[in-house]
Amino acid sequence: MRKKIVAGNWKMNLLPNEANQLFHEISENTNSNCQVYAFVPGIYLAELASKNQKNVFVGAQNAYYEDFGAFTGEISMKQIKANRAKAVLVGHSERRSVFLESNELLKLKVDAALKEGLDVFFCCGETLDERESNQQEEVILKQLQDSLFHLSEEEMKNVVIAYEPVWAIGTGKTASKEQANEVHQFIRKELTSKYGENCANSVSILYGGSCNPSNAKDLFSQSDIDGGLIGGASLKSKDFLEIQNSF
Ligand code: PEP
Repeated sequence: MRKKIVAGNWKMNLLPNEANQLFHEISENTNSNCQVYAFVPGIYLAELASKNQKNVFVGAQNAYYEDFGAFTGEISMKQIKANRAKAVLVGHSERRSVFLESNELLKLKVDAALKEGLDVFFCCGETLDERESNQQEEVILKQLQDSLFHLSEEEMKNVVIAYEPVWAIGTGKTASKEQANEVHQFIRKELTSKYGENCANSVSILYGGSCNPSNAKDLFSQSDIDGGLIGGASLKSKDFLEIQNSF
């Protein structure tokens, strides 16, 4: 059985009192029909992760692959783990496009995260140009092959894949449920040919890109969509909770 997951990506938002308030509202009201993660700004990670993570697991939005050293401004996987993070996002499109993170760098991050026992939420997805020239499968396959498919079947157990079409992130344009499911099925097919059916059927694949309370039900009812990675709508507890209740 694949895990149903709803994960919030708070990005670079919220002041301390707002972050605490949002976390409180979510963890008080989350029910257990799915696993819930909050990927919070690094500066709030230690405090929020020190709270009871029974209902809501706390994750980092990014971390570096070296353990320690002269990497000014970076935080390591080892440090976030020591501060009780449960998971880390790797390869979010904003990390790829704004911070120029390559597939090769992301591979190192994936390995470092798994070495620490963190769950990896690996993001992949095509840009608008790539979608318009029908290259989405090629692009996604390369992202998976270059950064993820060196892992063993055992290691894949700690990986969640998030399909996030770049053209749908923060734009209000959601992929249709058919478009999204088609890509999820493609990812699962590639997982099957690399790792076999058992493994492919146990990896949760989330959809991300302008997912909100009014489209979550449709998206989550698709055969290969196991939940969502939610940006904007994760900043309002009411919306985020409603999305969780869409299963
Ligand atoms: C994201 O940043 O991962 C995301 C899906 O953002 P939004 O929901 O705002 O499109």
